[in-house]
Amino acid sequence: METNFDVLIVGGGIAGLTATKRLRQANLTVAIIESYQWGGTTANHGSTPKKYLLAAVEAKQAIQSHLGKGFDQVPEIIWSDLMTFKNKQIAATSTVLQTSLEEAGITTIFGSAKFKNSHTVTVDDVDYQGKKIILATGARPRVLDFEGNEHVHYSSHFLNAESLPPSITIIGAGIIAFAITNIASAIGDHVHVLQHNQRALGAFDPELVGDLVALLKERGVDYHFDNTVAKIVQLKADLYQVTTEEGLVFETNVVYSVAGRIPNVENLGLEEAGITFSSKGVAVNSYLQTSNADIYAIGDCNDAPAPKLTNYAEFQANYLADFLTAATLKPIDYPIPSMSVFSNPKIAQTGIFVNDAVKQPELYEIVEIDMAHWLNYHRGNEPIARTKLVIRKADQQIVGITSLSNEADLLINYFTLLLKMKITLTQLREMVFAYPSLASDFSKFFDVH
Ligand SMILES: Cc1cc2nc3c(=O)[nH]c(=O)nc-3n(C[C@H](O)[C@H](O)[C@H](O)COP(=O)(O)OP(=O)(O)OC[C@H]3O[C@@H](n4cnc5c(N)ncnc54)[C@H](O)[C@@H]3O)c2cc1C
Repeated sequence: METNFDVLIVGGGIAGLTATKRLRQANLTVAIIESYQWGGTTANHGSTPKKYLLAAVEAKQAIQSHLGKGFDQVPEIIWSDLMTFKNKQIAATSTVLQTSLEEAGITTIFGSAKFKNSHTVTVDDVDYQGKKIILATGARPRVLDFEGNEHVHYSSHFLNAESLPPSITIIGAGIIAFAITNIASAIGDHVHVLQHNQRALGAFDPELVGDLVALLKERGVDYHFDNTVAKIVQLKADLYQVTTEEGLVFETNVVYSVAGRIPNVENLGLEEAGITFSSKGVAVNSYLQTSNADIYAIGDCNDAPAPKLTNYAEFQANYLADFLTAATLKPIDYPIPSMSVFSNPKIAQTGIFVNDAVKQPELYEIVEIDMAHWLNYHRGNEPIARTKLVIRKADQQIVGITSLSNEADLLINYFTLLLKMKITLTQLREMVFAYPSLASDFSKFFDVH
């Protein structure tokens, strides 16, 4: 077996796979090393399985909002059937991906990689050399330090749970926590959410997040803000007592911690290759180059100033493939940011975020729009449909949008295109969109003054 390559990639998640395929297309000899599952987090225990589960949840919620308006009852989700369906879609992923890599002429190596020196990585006592090496080892859940933390489960356990007991507790109130809360409460679980401070979804506008949390509370989710877990005691096989530092005590059947993810940087022998790293990840410059000029780091494992999300991991991988094949010599330039929370309703944002805009009132104005009476939202009987536009005062251009509605992710993606193309109201009026649809609402946003 060949052991010398132009590029060696460590980690077969979205970042590693994307870079590998692109570099192979440029006719470089490439090998990729994976220690667990080809496809990494996204494909096996992240957004892909989550979206499969959400499909049934969203169907149930659509019926729920039409109770007495076309439906007289809401069907129950049969969790075990839904899991079987989801598992069937995910089961073959790792094998299919590995086969497609090999068919593309890429060498796949299964095992845990460790640096021996600047150009050599060892897997199961075999040395592999790369003129360049790319680290794409991703991240794992943060393990919180408190008495009884051995009873805690993580997001991958939730996404594979054979059954859901009546009461679950989620530690953390970030993007993943909201998706799990959404799925579990739609199944009929009583959900407790523990957040150490007052702030859920820190990257998003607190007022819209407040609306979302208020609605979820109305639906029965118990949010315990300003509560830090002190201990978990097992009372019975499937019953735990949770106590917080602030004195809150309650019983629950299972506890999932989604309180952040930490980069996989340990046990890689990074010191042997002179690679600087910290608890925030592998240090990289604006070319995604580590402190060793021949080694790069992409995706969740680096400390680049980008959200730890699939779309950014993929963007970094594409940038690096361009850089290594001299298609670009420029530093990485992140595009308009976009992100969505898969709650019900969803909250999503693109462009200049409201949180940033409010700090610069001399530059930006925020315009609020209540869309609940617009046909696209009203017909679905959506309880909340609100948007905040960020408008640049100098030229009255929309430069950012945050939206809270069941269609927020789609709306925001449209706006990512509109903002990138710097579309004006005049240009919009030169186009027609299928009516009635989300796109046929565009001019309402551009005509707010
Ligand atoms: C539950 C959940 C839901 C999410 N939902 C979304 C979402 O909706 N949208 C979104 O944009 N993002 C989402 N994310 C985040 C997204 O999954 C990550 O940002 C993305 O997977 C990062 O990709 P990566 O390639 O950097 O890392 P990973 O996908 O984690 O891949 C890293 C790979 O490296 C391998 N590896 C590690 N160490 C070694 C070693 N020493 N040798 C060999 N291989 C090694 C690992 O086994 C792993 O397969 C979600 C994450 C989770 C956990």
